[in-house]
Amino acid sequence: MKKNDRSRKNSEALTPIETTKEWKLLYFQHGRPGLEESSEFRGLCRHCEIRDICGIPKPESGVWRCVYYKALTRKKTNLYENVINQLEKAEDVVHFDRDICKILAETTNELVVHFPVKMDGGTVKMLTGYRVQHNNALGPFKGGLRFHPSVDIDEIRALSTLMTWKTAITNIPFGGAKGGLQIDPADYSIQELEKITRRFTFALGNNIGPEYDILAPDVNTNPKIMAWILDTYLSTVTPNERNRCLHVVTGKPIEAGGSQGRYKATGQGIVFLIEKWAEDHGFNLKGATYTVQGFGNVGSWAARLMKKNGSKLIAVEDVTGVILNKEGIDPDDLADYVMEQGGVLDYPRAKAIDHETFFGTKADIFIPAALENQITAETAEILNVKLVAEGANGPTDPEGDKVLQRKKIDLIPDILCNSGGVIVSYFEWLQNKRSEFWDLDEVDYKLQKMIVDAYERVRDTAEKYKVDWRTAAHIVAISRLETVYKERGIFP
Ligand code: NAD
Repeated sequence: MKKNDRSRKNSEALTPIETTKEWKLLYFQHGRPGLEESSEFRGLCRHCEIRDICGIPKPESGVWRCVYYKALTRKKTNLYENVINQLEKAEDVVHFDRDICKILAETTNELVVHFPVKMDGGTVKMLTGYRVQHNNALGPFKGGLRFHPSVDIDEIRALSTLMTWKTAITNIPFGGAKGGLQIDPADYSIQELEKITRRFTFALGNNIGPEYDILAPDVNTNPKIMAWILDTYLSTVTPNERNRCLHVVTGKPIEAGGSQGRYKATGQGIVFLIEKWAEDHGFNLKGATYTVQGFGNVGSWAARLMKKNGSKLIAVEDVTGVILNKEGIDPDDLADYVMEQGGVLDYPRAKAIDHETFFGTKADIFIPAALENQITAETAEILNVKLVAEGANGPTDPEGDKVLQRKKIDLIPDILCNSGGVIVSYFEWLQNKRSEFWDLDEVDYKLQKMIVDAYERVRDTAEKYKVDWRTAAHIVAISRLETVYKERGIFP
């Protein structure tokens, strides 16, 4: 299978279409002539019936096929509702000022832009992009940019809110924002992707800016894309402003003003926290086993950096497939393979398993590092681990949370666990503003200090209020925002 086929097949396998009684979700997949039904996919060619529902246009060539993918976990729940429910849960414990909670329950600005892009074949395609700025009480709006078919305004609202909590927990002088384009990058050539990115940046105009709203990579975006954003933004400011605007985007390539350690920062932060958790619990990481869902930036770096503790990666799931080797999978070797092949599918030094077996695999630590709503009541029920370290944003839904608590599985919640990325983004922003360049040791040292401090604040809050860690993390974040609002008052 060619790399493009691989990512195409699987990203489309994620597009939810409908929920039935028998199947949690119906997925749609670009079929290929000769695609065989397997235990994982049950072929049912209902293309004509569902094409309008799924909204994916018929391709000009090739065979399409609809498949039911029996997925225990992938029921789409509204992430934004979950995020607001969690805010209310924290509010119930601490009785925060009601008026301030009213402010925090809303986003500040929601920008939807429609813009045309000329495709390679000469046709023009209209695309829709989102930028939601949740809150900037603590500093400029800050948050990633995601390219994914599931992107919609609710998802971006939720993710922008999580960014506000994240920057508040870590004591970073930023607010929260998020952006996204509802596209599958695998559908576009590299030239088209560049045009889409540049045109989207142009459409955002001065709604972003180095002291106003700063972008960064997220799902399916990377340093290269950040460099295009930077270049486009710089082209729109006056020449004497250009050198003062490098920090409009973080997660840039080092040569384009990026920071040492930014690319691995989210994974590095996760590993610092797992080490801290192990220290607190007298748990020996040497020989400990872990499983990882998502082997992109966050998952692969977390997996690779766990290796130095002598821990053993035994199972990985990504959008292309699921693999298991109880003797251990070398994360560096797997990362090379994924770089070449586009995913873990057919990795030769492990066997293929299915999604349910992956969730049921006994291990010490599980690192979800893919998309939201993966740990549900059903998957949490079969999880057999001591710790869940949430690399992804919103990977656990409220029902899943309850099951994790009942089973006494420890949790390092997303807004703390994956904050390493925004912490090092803050370092990059500072370096750009001051025309400095920090070495990797300095970046890692400062990251560890900030993220472990945040961990301790959350741990102590959980003990103080006798609440779960997710609620504690929200209490830490909202307390900080409440204090700022109380000091400043509400204009006018
Ligand atoms: P990425 O695009 O580099 O990787 C995403 C990975 O998830 C890929 O391996 C993909 O195959 C896999 N995946 C996608 N859908 C899947 C599914 N349904 N089942 C299994 N695997 C699936 O993205 P990333 O930057 O690593 O982000 C991953 C998560 O971490 C997201 O939730 C993101 O918001 C969060 N996050 C990222 C950063 C960052 O710095 N990049 C920072 C904080 C949080």
